[in-house]
Amino acid sequence: MRDTLVLNASFEPLSTVTLNRAVVLVLQDKAVVEQAHPELRMRGAEVDIPAPRVIRLCRYVRVPFRRQAPWSRRGVLVRDRHRCAYCGGRATTVDHVVPRSRGGQDTWLNTVASCAVDNHRKADRTPEQAGMPLLREPFEPTPADAMLFALGADDLAGLPEWLVREAA
Ligand SMILES: [Zn+2]
Repeated sequence: MRDTLVLNASFEPLSTVTLNRAVVLVLQDKAVVEQAHPELRMRGAEVDIPAPRVIRLCRYVRVPFRRQAPWSRRGVLVRDRHRCAYCGGRATTVDHVVPRSRGGQDTWLNTVASCAVDNHRKADRTPEQAGMPLLREPFEPTPADAMLFALGADDLAGLPEWLVREAA
């Protein structure tokens, strides 16, 4: 399955996203389907939309084409889907893997979403010093992720499980 092309509200091509993400954007009323796969639909209990090949954002977003997303606390929470990097619980804070007091920077690779309890417990230590291994390594968002951040997508969640692809 090819990725879906995303156009800005101004029809300027922005990026590509997976078909699943494209469908989520349409379901969240953040984008409309401009061109669909003729042979494929996405169906759920109350949803039946053509599988999008090209979508267009409902709102114009300012994103530098093919540029890395600027770091932000909110972006880290969105990237990590509000899951704590240490316990997997709900995260509301951003933790610096290498603490700022030890020279750690505000970068994608040095920050993770964390619950308040773990953030407080880890304090001014590295994960090794604190004996709190990361459940997953932090990563740089892709340009497509940068677009989703700019769009205000709540998270980078995939397709709801109840939605299935069916031949039209
Ligand atoms: Zn936690």
